[in-house]
Amino acid sequence: MRGNESFRQRTSRGFNPASRAITALTGHANSGPLIHVSKSRYETWLIWAIGLVVTAGIAVINTSPHHRDIAATVIYVTLLLMAANVFTIRTVIGVSLLCMATIVVMFFVDHGYQDWDSFTSFVRCLTALSAIGFLAARAKQASDHLRQHQIYLTGAQCLSQTGSVTFSGVTELMAWSEESARIFEYPINIPVSKSMILARTPVEDHGLIHHVFNLAAQREPQIEIRHRLLMPDGRIKHIHMVATALFVQDDRVEYLGAVMDVTERMQAEEMLYRTQAQLTHMCRVTTLGELTASIAHEVNQPLTAVISSADGCRRWLDRPQPDIAEAIRGLQRINDNAHRASEVISRVRALARKSDPIRRPEPINEIVRESLALLQYEMAHNHIRSHLDLTAEDSWVSADRIQLQQVLINLLVNARQAMSGIEQKRRMLHVRTFVTPYEVIVEVADCGPGIAPDMLPSLFTPFFTTRESGMGMGLSICRSIIDSHDGKIWAQNNAGGASFFISLPTVRRPW
Ligand code: ADP
Repeated sequence: MRGNESFRQRTSRGFNPASRAITALTGHANSGPLIHVSKSRYETWLIWAIGLVVTAGIAVINTSPHHRDIAATVIYVTLLLMAANVFTIRTVIGVSLLCMATIVVMFFVDHGYQDWDSFTSFVRCLTALSAIGFLAARAKQASDHLRQHQIYLTGAQCLSQTGSVTFSGVTELMAWSEESARIFEYPINIPVSKSMILARTPVEDHGLIHHVFNLAAQREPQIEIRHRLLMPDGRIKHIHMVATALFVQDDRVEYLGAVMDVTERMQAEEMLYRTQAQLTHMCRVTTLGELTASIAHEVNQPLTAVISSADGCRRWLDRPQPDIAEAIRGLQRINDNAHRASEVISRVRALARKSDPIRRPEPINEIVRESLALLQYEMAHNHIRSHLDLTAEDSWVSADRIQLQQVLINLLVNARQAMSGIEQKRRMLHVRTFVTPYEVIVEVADCGPGIAPDMLPSLFTPFFTTRESGMGMGLSICRSIIDSHDGKIWAQNNAGGASFFISLPTVRRPW
């Protein structure tokens, strides 16, 4: 069959999505055509047996004097119809020509032209046979076309792992293609029903299925759904269905939908997400490693204050007349500074911890201040003065605090590195926050050499770096974090260096 041949060609060797689909379907690669349309052995035997009977009938009739009457024509027609059902269009035309030739030959052999009755029955028989032969050939051609299209459609559904389904919201009657049955892992020849879909759907997702039928009953023009399937062996599959209203019949709308098995895609996305999260975490920890001196200083400062307050406290109590009030104030300072040190440690621990991002309303200025605090010593050590202009005082963003801190620390570390080559007295860092009607913008500006215009487009691309020891992942991770926060990040040269901007949509204050 031509359909089969073309499928074999299309599913040639090599790793491509098609061969993956075939592997998924058949269990192993290159295991032959996707669709088998040849008849079973018993069917072939039966056809040959009937063919023999009909041929024998023709032979018998040809020996009788009435072999051109109606009964004989019926036998020829039967043979023709059988050929149309079994053989190719060429054979059908061949069989019809052969039948006509037999009638013509028999007409002359029997000298039928000598008898008027015999002549008219010959003409009747020939006319009927040629008309039916023509119709049989046409029908055969049409059914061949239809069958071929059906095979292409089934094959395409197999390759793309996309089935089709029709359903109506009012009657809840359904029908589906072989591929849909395969996706839901039901036998392909049993009629589908809503209860069969529900049987394969985890209870928590049943509402989604009912919702689809409700939408269909309300004549929604387009319906889209993603839900899970729970297979009898405990496997989970992910399904994506998009359906559109196709036609209206007796006041009910019939929907046609495409059902896609997106399990592999979901798994790949999940894997990508995990890898990205790991990379983000790794980069965060690497940055923290670079900031050890700064962090140590941040912890050391309150600890020094704790020690001096404790000394003072002892002196107030050591007096002949102990000054209890001063000692209590000293204890309060110890308490405050110990808390400060502990807060720094918790912030660093939170940054180092590997956890799934959680977005909640956060005040943007607080995140900026916390990030700057971790780099305070670093900046001072590198003789960088900072100028803060945090006007977005009451602006809240929906963010994962740790991830946003990671972005800001990255930009601040980059600014520090950019200014390492310029004169100490010119090193100045500007950090601004300001609001526009729908968003808040954070700007980190330095007085470094700026960014070469031809590098601006590649700045946020993974592994783009101009630094010898750089990895080139910092800005690319910043972009993916800001993207996941529905924000934007961009860079531009300012009058005396580079400016990095982050814009984030603002949210309402939670109380
Ligand atoms: P890395 O710091 O490892 O190079 P990043 O992704 O953080 O990776 O930065 C990529 C590149 O962007 C840097 O190598 C540098 O060329 C450029 N860059 C980043 N920040 C600045 C800045 N403030 N001024 C000038 N160039 C910068």
